[in-house]
Amino acid sequence: MLTLLPMAHANPCTPPASAHSDWERFLARRNDLTSRMALSVCNGCDQCGGRCVDGFTVTRAEREAANAYLDTLPEAEVARVLGQTKIIPWPGADDPDITVTACRYRDLENGRCFIYPVRPTVCRLFGHTSWLPCPIEAVPDVPTDAPELWSDYLAFERRTWNGWDESNGGNAADGDAAFG
Ligand code: SF4
Repeated sequence: MLTLLPMAHANPCTPPASAHSDWERFLARRNDLTSRMALSVCNGCDQCGGRCVDGFTVTRAEREAANAYLDTLPEAEVARVLGQTKIIPWPGADDPDITVTACRYRDLENGRCFIYPVRPTVCRLFGHTSWLPCPIEAVPDVPTDAPELWSDYLAFERRTWNGWDESNGGNAADGDAAFG
């Protein structure tokens, strides 16, 4: 996803034993925040989808959730989406020859997120924070506590999809890393 994000602090250390409960607490707060978002304006809209550009970072738990979700889907569908050439025009560029690589989970044929139910935090916040604004300015207001939630999110170790594959720290699914 193409974003201008607040600065992050990479933490290369192995997560402590309390990391799981820390993540569960974070998810509860994230769910509370997203429940207060003005999501009705997003129904039927895919303007954010053009910003689903590769290179953003996700947590280990988000990587594992994506893999677990893919395991529930038909193999042929997974192969179809992950096998797509992910080159798309640069969002907002006048020159169509200026391209960028889409997120591996962007289903370019159907214009949707292939892992939508388990999409990472940045994808859930996009369009609903002051620093990740709705690209068509359709969202009337954003939760005021989003910066605090995002700041706490940055405390978790995060890597790109490819980064987790390369470390195998995200328990990359068979056949998934091949498309990384
Ligand atoms: S995970 Fe889904 S919503 Fe997030 S950038 Fe990829 S395609 Fe877009």
